[in-house]
Amino acid sequence: MGSRAERTIEQAVELQGVALFSAADVVLRFLPAPPGHGRAFRRTDLPGSEAIPATIAYAVDRHRRTAVANGDAVVEMTEHVLAALAGLEIDNCLVEIDGPECPGFDGSARSIVEALEQAGIVKQPQSRTTFAVVEPVVVTSPDGTADVLAEPSDVFEIVYELDYGPGPIPRQSLSVEVTPESFATSLAAARTFVLEQEIAFLRSQGYGARTTAADLLVFGEDGRPVDNELRWRDECVRHKLLDCVGDFALLGADVQGRFVARRSGHQLNRDLVRAMVGRVGNSHCRGVLREAA
Ligand SMILES: [Zn+2]
Repeated sequence: MGSRAERTIEQAVELQGVALFSAADVVLRFLPAPPGHGRAFRRTDLPGSEAIPATIAYAVDRHRRTAVANGDAVVEMTEHVLAALAGLEIDNCLVEIDGPECPGFDGSARSIVEALEQAGIVKQPQSRTTFAVVEPVVVTSPDGTADVLAEPSDVFEIVYELDYGPGPIPRQSLSVEVTPESFATSLAAARTFVLEQEIAFLRSQGYGARTTAADLLVFGEDGRPVDNELRWRDECVRHKLLDCVGDFALLGADVQGRFVARRSGHQLNRDLVRAMVGRVGNSHCRGVLREAA
């Protein structure tokens, strides 16, 4: 995996959608950005607010989603937007948003990927920083039921093992070498999923006032999606891989390494990114990342 040129989009592109929690209409506008800029959000409804870099230093902990904040400006539900940008290797992009929450679209990153591809992707005169994992690092959930391992590899590969035990969603495992091509064809269209029995709780949290079972995958007791059809038999594990791509994008660089995620979610994925970043240049402990040649 050699170093590559940084990339941005050729022209601005706009998308509209509905936010899942706030039920608000939201406009997302993707703008080209210069080399070295990175990925960032800016709240256009908060005049004068600073851009929010989409890196782990600006990530704030949320249950089952990923938010970034800079001062009073917060953007929620960033994970599928970041997955689309990182998956397509769009390194420099300013995402303007006129509210606090990214739209849910169909629960996947498909419409974002289509819009970005339509905008055109161009190389820039600067090489992208790549971090290589040079020794294994693992993070484990407090209850010990989930973990994520990063280990050295020549490519960027993620293995996800989904296992909810007995229930409507069977065990699924998938390994993907993440490239713009594999992301666009194998992961981008995989949708968020929930269990029918979780819906009442989510609704009590304000989730989905304008959302129906056709807008994401809701699994009933019989293991079939309610009012919907699967895009792949293993669509759930593909969505977990999509989430990993978005969460690992918080490193703010390409990464060369093999990740093995077992039952992990956004929180644990962020913990791994923190553990990796925290060890860079730390003389007490051999670095787990180095800039690849
Ligand atoms: Zn997701």
